Amino acid sequence: MLSINNKDISFTVRVMKRKTIAIMVLSTGIVEVRCPKGVSNKYIEELLKKKSQWILKNIEDINRGGKLEEVLFLGKYKKIHKIEGKENLISVENSIINIQYNGKINIEELFTNYSKEKLRHIVVEIINNYKDIMGINFNKVAMKNIKTRWGSCSSKGNLNFNVKLIGAPLDVIEYVVIHELCHLIHMNHSKEFWREVSKYCPGHKEKSHWLKVNGHILMNMFSNI
Ligand SMILES: [Zn+2]
Repeated sequence: MLSINNKDISFTVRVMKRKTIAIMVLSTGIVEVRCPKGVSNKYIEELLKKKSQWILKNIEDINRGGKLEEVLFLGKYKKIHKIEGKENLISVENSIINIQYNGKINIEELFTNYSKEKLRHIVVEIINNYKDIMGINFNKVAMKNIKTRWGSCSSKGNLNFNVKLIGAPLDVIEYVVIHELCHLIHMNHSKEFWREVSKYCPGHKEKSHWLKVNGHILMNMFSNI
């Protein structure tokens, strides 16, 4: 470990058959020093300090580009394709998500904002489909970055949904929304509550099972945010 400008930088040294020393910043953000046999640690540390500006800039570039490579999106794994461009634009295809970014923005933040909007659209549509037949009234709907729950419903009728739900299949999102809407009728998990959920979502056990099995993947997906 090396400390540059109060930042701890981890580095590894690989002794190789070569004549010169090379410093590389790997995509993981770890600094790798490749050097011939017999180079002292002290020499390496001094060299790293000398190159500190260059190292920090490279680590910053990697962080800005994000570590996002593949995500679950509406129940399907999609590869993230990053392109630097003039604008910040996201487009979703069958198995790829294209993220064009202008190099100044954090990719994970950009993708989270996009996911929030997309999820809001889906959630509002589901609420509109059910609110009349369920005979419910609600106050506000918000997409939030919640650490432990998929959704919540306050006594004031405010509904919150976890932005990470965007990774789940549509029918699972629908179940979570119906679950929270049913809390507007029963603020508990009583038999009556589950009877209400079954009425609008007969396959709810299957959906909540999906969340139990895959939930940790969704929770880890945007762990840096
Ligand atoms: Zn509940």
